[in-house]
Amino acid sequence: MSALDAAVILVGGGPCGLMLASELGHRGVSTLLFDDKPATSPYPQANATQARTMEYFRRLGFAETVRSQGLPPDYPTDVAYFTRLSKHELARFALPTSSRARDLAKELSGSWSAAELPHRCSQMYIERIMHAHAERLPAVSLRYGWRVTGLAEAVDQVTVEAERVAGGERRSFAARYVVGCDGPRSLVRKQLGINYEGETVLRDFMGGRMHAIYLRSPELYRVIEAPRAWQYWAVNRERRGVLIALDGQGEFVFLTQLRREEAERTITEAMARAMFFPTLGRECEIAIINHLSWTAGLTLVAERFRQGRVLLGGDAVHLFTPTGGLGYNTAVEDAVNLAWKLQALVEGWGGAGLLASYELERQPVAKRNTLYARRFADSIGGYMPPPEIEEETPAGEAARRDAGEYLNRHARAEFNIPGITFGTRYDGSPLILSDGTAPPPDDANVYVPTATPGGRAPHLWLPEEDSLFDRFGLGFNLLRLGPAAPQADAFVRAAARRGMPLSVLELPGEEIRDLYEADLVLIRPDQIVAWRANRLPVDADALLARVSGHAGPDQGEA
Ligand SMILES: Cc1cc2nc3c(=O)[nH]c(=O)nc-3n(C[C@H](O)[C@H](O)[C@H](O)COP(=O)(O)OP(=O)(O)OC[C@H]3O[C@@H](n4cnc5c(N)ncnc54)[C@H](O)[C@@H]3O)c2cc1C
Repeated sequence: MSALDAAVILVGGGPCGLMLASELGHRGVSTLLFDDKPATSPYPQANATQARTMEYFRRLGFAETVRSQGLPPDYPTDVAYFTRLSKHELARFALPTSSRARDLAKELSGSWSAAELPHRCSQMYIERIMHAHAERLPAVSLRYGWRVTGLAEAVDQVTVEAERVAGGERRSFAARYVVGCDGPRSLVRKQLGINYEGETVLRDFMGGRMHAIYLRSPELYRVIEAPRAWQYWAVNRERRGVLIALDGQGEFVFLTQLRREEAERTITEAMARAMFFPTLGRECEIAIINHLSWTAGLTLVAERFRQGRVLLGGDAVHLFTPTGGLGYNTAVEDAVNLAWKLQALVEGWGGAGLLASYELERQPVAKRNTLYARRFADSIGGYMPPPEIEEETPAGEAARRDAGEYLNRHARAEFNIPGITFGTRYDGSPLILSDGTAPPPDDANVYVPTATPGGRAPHLWLPEEDSLFDRFGLGFNLLRLGPAAPQADAFVRAAARRGMPLSVLELPGEEIRDLYEADLVLIRPDQIVAWRANRLPVDADALLARVSGHAGPDQGEA
């Protein structure tokens, strides 16, 4: 093996690459990240950080910083629907302010038993925080302004060709593993010859070329007389669109679908204004900061997530319609699933089955989540308001009442999704030891906390008001639960022999024993339950071999 520049090279510094850099950096894995932009994205892009993503941010220590960004702490994050934004309000789903969300997390149970609740905030702000966090980690080196132009895999390493965008300096870099987090047009995916599979659905709204207009207009808070909201949807038969509040001071992003005659390359600021005003219902002062086109209606997942030592994550392997706010969140979770596996391989305690497990575990989740997003897009994009919806007549009033009922139902389905966010499962993965119990049914709007192996460890607030998840180490965690948990020395010795990071947590309370329904529970580094039982396994070493990828398919060279 020739000298390596890092253990892992990441191509792309959007949410997937930055999260992976932070996860690897916290684990002490030397990581080199390239991104062809001079800095993080100047476009608002995604606007919702799901609760599970906030839990991932929490354990790296920046959830609070993220929660302080975006809308002011007392700004409601309601989703509201109008005929036109300055006209009739049709429906509203009230959602908490960010300061309330912090306290509410400690009060809720059932579907929302969590360390964190969602935070509605632009990806643009969050990427800056993720960048600042990754940059401070000694094991991580971020190279923005560098474009990767090619890669070649050898037996024990991958070489990446990169060029400095300003000036054209060219260099090769080598690492044991490369991850393509390089977005929808992924050079890494294309170079591996991997295609997306799935569907592109055309609809009048949220199904075709869309335009995103990032604008500043404090005056909108006077023009829109309705109570403040995070998302303002215009539902009429002339022009549909959604206006999303970014900072509560007057910055917004407006999304609308382009018409056949609106050629995206020739859209001027005047044309962008002309798209916005019909949804507002009148004209006012707006300053356009930037605008770009993108495609909605995609339900696409790559046919493979890996080839040899090269892996793919985020938009490089799955493309969504943004309904449900799942693209960026799924990208972050890919990184969380992959980071500990790369750490294990680099440190030598992981088996080659870990590489195969990444695709086995994450591809079904990508398919599931893209389908949920598509369902929400069908529900809102396929909804055609009645022709009389804007009439000031009894028929108009009745049409608005019917539309309101529909939209109220839709909003509660799309914007209350604990089942999606906490319900990711890896049943059937070779790294998971089933105990024969069946997981609860998959339901977007309902999450049933369960320690059935394969899913998120159920959350609990401990008596001192700290989160159970705050007690977990970044490696494996063995929970000894309830008053009669057996000793776990054999486990600890077996993990030490293998060099596996394992913390033992003693939690003698009955409540947590009842929640987990077992005396011993092994939690993976990504907070997924790997195994549970009431007594130690006969062969603790064999169990640890299995959960760390030394059994199952693909036992080739790692
Ligand atoms: C207008 C818009 C609205 C959206 N709204 C939502 C939403 O509401 N909810 C949601 O969940 N998602 C939304 N998305 C999608 C979300 O932004 C993406 O899912 C998310 O950014 C994916 O993160 P990523 O890190 O995988 O890819 P990206 O964010 O695309 O990052 C990839 C990075 O790789 C860099 N790169 C590419 N090629 C190279 C190369 N050869 N060398 C070096 N660097 C390279 C790119 O510059 C980029 O920075 C939206 C996207 C857009 C465009």
